[in-house]
Amino acid sequence: MNKKIEKLRQKVREFAAAEVAPIAAQIDRSDTIPLTLWRKLGEQRLLGITVPKIYGGEALSYLAHVIVTEELSRASGTVGFSYAAHSNICVDNLYKHGTDKQRKKYLPELISGNHLGALAMSEPDAGSDVIGSMSCHAEKKGNVWIANGVKRWITNGPDAGVLIVYMRTADKKEAGSHSITAFLVEQDMKGFSTGDKIDKLGMRGAGNCELYFENCEIPEHNVLGDVNQGVSVLMSGLNSERLILCGGPLGIMQTALDIAVPYANQRQQFGQAIGNFQMIQAKLADMYTQLEASRSFVYRVAEQFDNNNRTIGRDAAAACLFTSQAAVQLSLDAIQIMGGRGYMNDNTPGRLLRDAKIYEIGGGTNEIRRLIIARELLKEASEHSH
Ligand SMILES: Cc1cc2nc3c(=O)[nH]c(=O)nc-3n(C[C@H](O)[C@H](O)[C@H](O)COP(=O)(O)OP(=O)(O)OC[C@H]3O[C@@H](n4cnc5c(N)ncnc54)[C@H](O)[C@@H]3O)c2cc1C
Repeated sequence: MNKKIEKLRQKVREFAAAEVAPIAAQIDRSDTIPLTLWRKLGEQRLLGITVPKIYGGEALSYLAHVIVTEELSRASGTVGFSYAAHSNICVDNLYKHGTDKQRKKYLPELISGNHLGALAMSEPDAGSDVIGSMSCHAEKKGNVWIANGVKRWITNGPDAGVLIVYMRTADKKEAGSHSITAFLVEQDMKGFSTGDKIDKLGMRGAGNCELYFENCEIPEHNVLGDVNQGVSVLMSGLNSERLILCGGPLGIMQTALDIAVPYANQRQQFGQAIGNFQMIQAKLADMYTQLEASRSFVYRVAEQFDNNNRTIGRDAAAACLFTSQAAVQLSLDAIQIMGGRGYMNDNTPGRLLRDAKIYEIGGGTNEIRRLIIARELLKEASEHSH
């Protein structure tokens, strides 16, 4: 790990310990992340990690971005999650696929934290099969696109000033995968509105809601990428999304260990610390090993991503699969080591479990990740055999 990234990690760790960790339980209880936190993250220069300096970013690597997400998630799972949706899923995608004009118009507000960003592909009837089942659609009329339909579950949706939104723009039967377009939608565009904030199991604080498009007029210059080429925007975005999201489970696992190890030293039963019992020691050792294996895997995939390695699709999916499962397990282990205290909402492990679970679902479920990994392995083997 180079010195620049270690310095960044230290800076984020200190910021998160001072500004995020003290309000983490309150964010969970009140189901609200204070909007002022976004400006603070902007002042810390954390919202445009992978964006070049000419657009106000930091021009750093995806590995650096994973580490920032990890450190924020260590302080609060939901802040890390909402941060990844903003800084990677919206900001990084907007930079990668936007025109110079679009970048200059939208990135400064997003990177300063004045605007929150979101990305919307999922719909009530289009989840894992988001491309095949997408029914939100837009038709060109003069120099605007008229969009209609409903998006669901969208992270940061209730407060987002700018959203990347996918719409069907050509007949699926005729155009196949060339029938979807990505658009940049602004909060106050005519015909666009958001539903109530949805009550969730975990990641409480991060806003999730439905988005409604009722003859919403999107100017033609707000097409992101090329018309009918939205699937390639979506697929390239999903790889980097899965990678950056891995920082979330890493941070949650670190917190599980941060809690469980001192507790095992301090809690006395049968006249001694429970850390003396080998069954507790085995749990701690397994937790540590899972975390370190996850960390090494994720950092290696991030470095590969930074070097444009072509196996990134299956590796980003595999890293996400492995770390999300490990984070759920470590959260359960922390609860078990704390016994009854671990089960109480006044203590942190329950929140870790509720937060960790989303990483087995969001950005494509673990079942879909397994399909991606297996499909790529089988394809590669069949290419080699010809
Ligand atoms: C908190 C939260 C935040 C989210 N944020 C966003 C966001 O910001 N933007 C956005 O666009 N979306 C977002 N989503 C949506 C998320 O990406 C979807 O929930 C996810 O892709 C799964 O879709 P689904 O929920 O419709 O499940 P479904 O696709 O209905 O799947 C249900 C079950 O069937 C399984 N399944 C489906 N197909 C197969 C198959 N072929 N083989 C085996 N098993 C299969 C799934 O793995 C799952 O277990 C969010 C979701 C949540 C819960």
